Amino acid sequence: MLRSRTSKTSTTENETPREVVLSEDEWRRRLTREQYRVLRKAGTERAFTGEYVDCHLDGTYHCAACGAELFSSDAKFDSGSGWPSFTEPAVASAVELHRDRSLGTERTEVLCRACGSHLGHVFDDGPLPTGQRYCINSCSLSIEAAQR
Ligand SMILES: [Zn+2]
Repeated sequence: MLRSRTSKTSTTENETPREVVLSEDEWRRRLTREQYRVLRKAGTERAFTGEYVDCHLDGTYHCAACGAELFSSDAKFDSGSGWPSFTEPAVASAVELHRDRSLGTERTEVLCRACGSHLGHVFDDGPLPTGQRYCINSCSLSIEAAQR
C-alpha cells in the first residue's frame, strides 16, 4: 500500500480516515496535470474529451489516483452527457458522497473513499432500477479490462 506521512497533513475536511494519504507534492508527481486538477482540486474535464466516454470494454474501473476498485463496466451506460456514466458503484463502500453547493445549485459530489479524490457527481436522473447516474470524469478512472 501507498502510505506516507508528512508534517503538513490537512485536518480540516476529513471525517473519514483515508487508506491512502499523500502530500499535495506527491499527488502532483503521481498524476498528470489534468488528473491533479480534477482529482485533487475537484475540477471537471471538458465533456466528450475523456477517453472512457465511449468505452465499451468489459472490465473494472479503478481510481486513477490510488487504484481502488470503483465501477464495473456492467453498470456503465450511454447517458449522452459527455462523461462516463454508471448506475451504481461496484461496491457501495468504495465511494463517498458529499453535498456540494459550489455552483449555486446543490449537487452530490462523488469521492473515492480510499484516497478522498474527487471523481464526479451523482444525479438521480439515471435509468432504472437504481435511477442514479454517476457522472464521472474519465481522467479519474483507469480501466482494467476483463480477461477473456
Ligand atoms: Zn482513490
